[in-house]
Amino acid sequence: MKTNYKSHYQVLIAGGGNAGISVAAQLLRKDSKLDLAIIEPSDKHYYQPAWTLVGGGDYDINDTVRNEADFIPKKATWIKDKVTKFDPDNNRVVIGNGDAITYDWLVVCIGIQLNWSAIKGLEGNLGKNGITSNYTFQTAPYTFECIKNFKGGKAIFTNPNTPIKCGGAPQKIMYLAADYFRKHGILDKADIHYYSGGAVIFGVKKYAETLNKVIQRYGIKTHYKHNLVEIRADRKEAVFETEQDGQKKYVVQSYDFIHVTPPQSAPDVIRNSPLAVPDSPGGWVDVDKHTLRHNRYKNVFGIGDNTSTPNAKTGAAIRKQAPILVENLYRSINGQEISAMYNGYGSCPLVTGYGKLVLAEFDYSNEPIETFPFDQGKERWTMYQLKKRILPWLYWNKILRGTA
Ligand SMILES: Cc1cc2nc3c(=O)[nH]c(=O)nc-3n(C[C@H](O)[C@H](O)[C@H](O)COP(=O)(O)OP(=O)(O)OC[C@H]3O[C@@H](n4cnc5c(N)ncnc54)[C@H](O)[C@@H]3O)c2cc1C
Repeated sequence: MKTNYKSHYQVLIAGGGNAGISVAAQLLRKDSKLDLAIIEPSDKHYYQPAWTLVGGGDYDINDTVRNEADFIPKKATWIKDKVTKFDPDNNRVVIGNGDAITYDWLVVCIGIQLNWSAIKGLEGNLGKNGITSNYTFQTAPYTFECIKNFKGGKAIFTNPNTPIKCGGAPQKIMYLAADYFRKHGILDKADIHYYSGGAVIFGVKKYAETLNKVIQRYGIKTHYKHNLVEIRADRKEAVFETEQDGQKKYVVQSYDFIHVTPPQSAPDVIRNSPLAVPDSPGGWVDVDKHTLRHNRYKNVFGIGDNTSTPNAKTGAAIRKQAPILVENLYRSINGQEISAMYNGYGSCPLVTGYGKLVLAEFDYSNEPIETFPFDQGKERWTMYQLKKRILPWLYWNKILRGTA
């Protein structure tokens, strides 16, 4: 791995997370002579899917982080900075120190932006006084503190009305909490509420049916089309926006602890650039949902959480997207027509309790496309082990090395 960088690269990858490292590794396996650089500001690389289990006290947070340097492919250059401007009309990006880097081909994968400030009163209060979230490395362990210290009362779990990474994460932690209360004999003292900006528990009917039974089993109360807009930390109250008879209405709910999933969008540096879908609130990178090539800039590709593709934003989706992008980019570099097509595959390992998991897998049409020869709509111990033990190993050892 080189860290001295040039002012021009054949292939420039913005973001060295799940998608960026997967793509870089696969491209260099295909052709080690490619002149490729990755722009990534962070020293650390996180395995975010395990933060759900960290919040449930069933995974060590320290096992979810490794040094980024160990995963930048040897033949790539690491530009350790962040992109501050995308300028695709001039085939260049500007980085934090003011340098401009030009490219022949650009891959955009800087992940999703967590918009905490969209919830009034939340900033400064997250990670204390019973307000937690599995969406950050810093606060995922505090979720388990809240669960452990809960002696009964009201526990609230929220899901915003924007696309988010891992659509199942806001409810998985709720099921773990409920199961923890059950195991410790206090489920009957727990008043558990799920407030969601969405209209259903899950978009794929087959899995929604199982989840609705899980909700009944734990006695959880659901409130759909309710979007968290404010936390009054001093009074331990949450304010939700909803609609009644076409009018906006605000519902105030007290809590003993609250797990917040923040509203999310593409990062501002994309939103404010010509790469974004024009006039869209999310500001996602405007790519073709099958080829992953930008709809207007033919030398730009996008992958992972930051794109406009309407799949479930997960690492599992990236695992299927990366080979498609690599194939199409490589053909483009060689002057050939692109032909590989992504079908929208996404997967959500829906943890429904300790040792219980429903492995949802589906495509753009929200139809199940399952890997295993058994009914994945059922809660299974084996699938929990897959999430806890096999998938993390696969991530660090195969996916980031470009071999899976
Ligand atoms: C609580 C939780 C549970 C989850 N559970 C699952 C699960 O069970 N299964 C699953 O498949 N997925 C799950 N996910 C989702 C999964 O982690 C993401 O979909 C995946 O990490 C997205 O990869 P990415 O490369 O698009 O973004 P990331 O992996 O987030 O990487 C983005 C990278 O871009 C860098 N970056 C940011 N800004 C800039 C910039 N301006 N310039 C350059 N670089 C920049 C960041 O430092 C980061 O390294 C979960 C996520 C969370 C938070």
